Amino acid sequence: MFGNFSYCNPTKLYFGDDALKYLNVELPKYGKNVVLIYGGGSIKKNGIYDDVVKILADNGKDVAEISGVMPNPTVDKLREGVEIARQHKADLLLAVGGGSVCDYAKAVSVSVNCDEDPWEKYYIRFEEPACEIVPVGCVLTMVGTGSEMNAGAVITNPHTHQKIGHVFADEKIMPKFSILNPQYTMALPHYQMVAGIYDIFNHICEQYFSGEDNNVSDYLSEGLMRSVIEASRIANQNPQDYEARSNLMWAATWALNTLLSRGKSTDWMVHMIGQSVGAYTDATHGMTLAAVSLPYYRHILPYGLEKFKRFAVNVWGVDPAGKTDEQAALEGLTALEGWMRELGLVMNISDLGATEDMIEGIADGTIILTGGYKVPNREEIIQILKESLK
Ligand code: NAP
Ligand code: FE
Repeated sequence: MFGNFSYCNPTKLYFGDDALKYLNVELPKYGKNVVLIYGGGSIKKNGIYDDVVKILADNGKDVAEISGVMPNPTVDKLREGVEIARQHKADLLLAVGGGSVCDYAKAVSVSVNCDEDPWEKYYIRFEEPACEIVPVGCVLTMVGTGSEMNAGAVITNPHTHQKIGHVFADEKIMPKFSILNPQYTMALPHYQMVAGIYDIFNHICEQYFSGEDNNVSDYLSEGLMRSVIEASRIANQNPQDYEARSNLMWAATWALNTLLSRGKSTDWMVHMIGQSVGAYTDATHGMTLAAVSLPYYRHILPYGLEKFKRFAVNVWGVDPAGKTDEQAALEGLTALEGWMRELGLVMNISDLGATEDMIEGIADGTIILTGGYKVPNREEIIQILKESLK
């Protein structure tokens, strides 16, 4: 049945090759103390760091830094950043980087004024913040996660082999503003570009492959998927194609800014399995999803046959004439596989460093959600992971 919902997305976006100048519009809205958060140094190599620091200085901000936020940010790094933000009495957390930096900023934001340990409160007990949060702004340099316009924050605990995402319920956790300049993404290595492309695509799949009801979301999803496939093929041939990189950036935002999931159930099991693979291997997020997707989708296909057939026909142009529903649906997954190989995605978890002896631990670390066509049990997850090793 079409679900009841509320919808509010307060993130202000500035999109385009001149978008950074709008930092001058946003910064005066916040107090003097800014914590600039970034990753391992790509923004210093490509000049974005210098441009941002200049604008912060022009606006008279007192800036502290949290640098070295790693892909798959850890709980130790989170605790370290919370201390820096507290000492600096942060009025604004400015994340400059990819989803890891943006997610991390949100996790710091809800922890600065919280007396409890953030891992226990937000990632084990999944509680909502009861404290005042520190506003987050984002300058995005890597496309894929949608973190620039959502309230998700994924944190890894390497001590316990857990990688967990908390999607906060309150829209005030979403970035107050995000600056999206497609030019910034052109310096991404091919590996990161295609991992991000698959992350976008899978975010749409996670929301599409669930439920039997007819929802406008399915039509939006099919359009977004077709746009991602088309733009990815152009960007894969020519990474400097501004139009293709713009389409990917914009599609990534729409894929996970909470719109597609309104009024419908969602799956998210590829992310749950992929995140657990990530907790064991520290592999690139999008690649963990690519490596487990086909075994997962082939496993659930019989339970969601109608939707998989629709996917084949409406997204991949499969002609269903003269075919059984199953044949047509499987042809859609074959087309998906062909596109994934064309992009050069990692197609198995062995290539990400996972080994047979990790399988049980990865399965135990997988959070089981119940919105998909088949709620997998532990044995099924082990089977899917074994298939993903090949
Ligand atoms: P990322 O981990 O933020 O960045 C990956 C790598 O790309 C880093 O090594 C980074 O280097 C580099 N990089 C970023 N921008 C670059 C540029 N313009 N040029 C060159 N290199 C650049 O990647 P991500 O895929 O965006 O984020 C992944 C994280 O987000 C994972 O933890 C994942 O679980 C999470 N996630 C969140 C959501 C959500 O809804 N919030 C959804 C899906 C996934 P530097 O560190 O040197 O900058
Ligand atoms: Fe993702």
